[in-house]
Amino acid sequence: MQPDRRKIALGAIAPFTGQPLGHFVDGVAVAGEGVSFAVTDPSTGARLGEACDASEAELDAAVAAAKRAFPAWAATPGDKRKQILHRVADLIEARAEEIAAVECLDAGQAWRFMSKAALRGAENFRFFADRAPAAADGQSLPTAEHLNVTSRAPIGPVAVITPWNTPFMLSTWKIAPALAAGCTVVHKPAEWSPYSARLLVEIAHEAGLPAGVFNSINGLGETTGRRLTEHRDIKAIAFVGESKTGSAIMRQGADTLKRVHFELGGKNPVIVFDDADLDRALDAVVFMIYSLNGQRCTSSSRLLVQRSIHDQFVAKLAERVRQLKVGDPFDSATEVGPLIHPRHLSKVCSYAEIATADGATIAVGGERIAGDGYFYSPTLYTNADVSMRIAQEEIFGPVLTVIPFDDEADAIAKANAVDYGLAGYLWTNDLGRSLRVSNALEAGMIWVNSENVRHLPTPFGGVKASGIGRDGGDWSFDFYMETKNVALATGAHKIQRLGVAA
Ligand code: NAD
Repeated sequence: MQPDRRKIALGAIAPFTGQPLGHFVDGVAVAGEGVSFAVTDPSTGARLGEACDASEAELDAAVAAAKRAFPAWAATPGDKRKQILHRVADLIEARAEEIAAVECLDAGQAWRFMSKAALRGAENFRFFADRAPAAADGQSLPTAEHLNVTSRAPIGPVAVITPWNTPFMLSTWKIAPALAAGCTVVHKPAEWSPYSARLLVEIAHEAGLPAGVFNSINGLGETTGRRLTEHRDIKAIAFVGESKTGSAIMRQGADTLKRVHFELGGKNPVIVFDDADLDRALDAVVFMIYSLNGQRCTSSSRLLVQRSIHDQFVAKLAERVRQLKVGDPFDSATEVGPLIHPRHLSKVCSYAEIATADGATIAVGGERIAGDGYFYSPTLYTNADVSMRIAQEEIFGPVLTVIPFDDEADAIAKANAVDYGLAGYLWTNDLGRSLRVSNALEAGMIWVNSENVRHLPTPFGGVKASGIGRDGGDWSFDFYMETKNVALATGAHKIQRLGVAA
């Protein structure tokens, strides 16, 4: 029998639901004094609790704590940081089932994916923990006249702002490298799914992270998020969310010249050529848009399929989409859970009308599933072309738009005909073609004959409206650290002498 995971989740958030969820600042939980907003269970619509929108004073206190804690944490030897961050990973692993259950409850994500995502959170901490001792390492760049020596130092207190899709895993991906680098952090999780972030900050302190090194404040984007990004003592902003929010944050951080790293939206193509292994391609196409309820930045939300195999491939695809199991996220058999929030549900719903008005066909789904939860039927739009809104806009739900193409040049042109450029997926058994198309695609990450499999040392990020900068591996440290060059003279060079009589 399956354990009662809903009960586990409700037990885990019980300490935070009796009163509005406040903040965690300077090593202690603080009750919020600001106004609060509701947090709901997406699968039932029931109110789980409330969370506070931080007041200006609370936000200032969180940033002040991060600023105070910074010198000591930056000076903590990398080996010691490594030890503490491994302990964070140990505790995440020990509580992985509870964390995964909270993600199912709070974010509506299916258990089959969340059980792995919680463990990935631990892996993220381990990966960056191991690199903490060498984070400051630089290069020596000698000339005859100088020995140039570079080194890196943590930039200072940083803001980490995360979205509601897979909130725990994404938070660890940003926060672990910041802490490993020696930065202190003020984290603002998304307002629609705040509970797992609270578990994370408590775990981090239980693991021995000093007070003030990692602070977590709740709040809305337009108030708390804005103030955090405008704060003069925050040196850099790691942001994951929508492209238009990225633009707002860039404006908000302009006066204080913030360094930004943006992981933004996507409208990622999966391109299937007629020479591909079509069975494997079909599995990957279905997985990459319908897993995680389609609420995934790297989802392949546009299928570009070669005209010669279009009808046959789409018929099989439609059959698979009809068979997807939509249901309670806690059920191990569920493949698609609810969308996060009624507002997001109505956005996703609106595209059925848009698709039809633009001339596309709703081959499967296209409607809300009746009930109190925010369920939307897995949807397949066919007969689409690149000019349609369903082919251009990030819908961020279990919705796939199919567009036929004729040849390689047509596939590339259609794949690139969007504002976004996060990821691309390519299915072909022609090696030369895979290289040509990969080179031509405007995207930060390409997978050939594979679904999205993340290798932690590799760079992650997008081009065009999908982001600025890369993280993963050493790229994360480059963002969270300042590089300094020290030039030591060998004495071999001659200094120009001014003010000396000829
Ligand atoms: P969002 O941009 O609405 O919100 C993200 C976070 O930003 C939230 O914490 C929110 O409170 C905060 N925020 C909103 N307005 C703000 C402001 N003016 N100043 C500061 N903070 C503000 O995004 P969302 O709807 O929560 O998440 C979905 C989006 O995230 C999608 O576009 C998705 O593609 C993107 N995403 C991208 C990646 C990636 O790696 N590229 C990963 C996950 C999600």
